[in-house]
Amino acid sequence: MSDPEITGVVGTVAAICTTGAFVPEIFKLRKQGGEDLSYSMVAVYLVGVLLWLVYGLMFHAPAVIWANAVASLLVAVSLVLKLTWKESAGTGRNGRRTRRLRVAVDMDEVIADSLTRHLSLYNRATGQNVTPELIRENGLEAAIPAKHREIFERLPHEDGFFDDLGVIVHSQRALQLLSSEFNVFITSAAMEVPRSFDAKFRWLQEHFPFVPTSNIVFCGDKEIIDADYLIDDRSRHFARFRGTGILFTAPHNARERAHLRASNWDEVLAIVMKKQPALTLQQSAKTDINTEAQQVTSFSSIR
Ligand SMILES: [Mg+2]
Repeated sequence: MSDPEITGVVGTVAAICTTGAFVPEIFKLRKQGGEDLSYSMVAVYLVGVLLWLVYGLMFHAPAVIWANAVASLLVAVSLVLKLTWKESAGTGRNGRRTRRLRVAVDMDEVIADSLTRHLSLYNRATGQNVTPELIRENGLEAAIPAKHREIFERLPHEDGFFDDLGVIVHSQRALQLLSSEFNVFITSAAMEVPRSFDAKFRWLQEHFPFVPTSNIVFCGDKEIIDADYLIDDRSRHFARFRGTGILFTAPHNARERAHLRASNWDEVLAIVMKKQPALTLQQSAKTDINTEAQQVTSFSSIR
């Protein structure tokens, strides 16, 4: 092979490589979007290949012309895909979200009524008559005197505390509705009471069987949760949560100032699903899979 032929082969291979470099990038853009592709790099690269195209035209160099014309086209396509993907992130061809929002839902006092059990055991142990209304009106500190606080805090650690808890009114149907549009996760700071794991898991299996076990998260610090919404009765869990925290009203937090509060599951749906909540739950109440009528919204000092 003569020197000119070798030079020609090298030039052709080089042109194919530099021109085709954006082909795999285009496939990636179509599948994953272009978050990791810099606008400035693409823009500068596009200017560069366009100038090479002009250069080829000025000097009548066919190889330079076709190589940079194709490269310009590929870079332009990449740019359009990146722009388009960013504008419609999470949206499929029919306009529906393809990347579902994540909704994290606490257990105690949000879907599980541990207050009734807690106060029942506490009142039996101390001879007191503390009610949810008393806590709502006066706060937990005033309702539970210091001399009984240790008893109050110890009760959830006793065997059987989390067995057969009631279900917060409308929470089942609300989570079913949320699950139809979002990824719903049950996120309980169960590490605060490690012995509660089994009972909590059984309870979820019985009352929320539609939540897959892969979406049950027993954790410590809820900062680890990567969700768009966190529905919780403890505002401290919102401190480092990166999504939107919705404080679910319970007697112990009734007097607390909250950035975003939901007094019941109707209001949660109104916030998250942006639907008419009363209508939604009134229509669906008949199909609730448990006897929620006997359940109450209440509070607990834990989680
Ligand atoms: Mg809770």
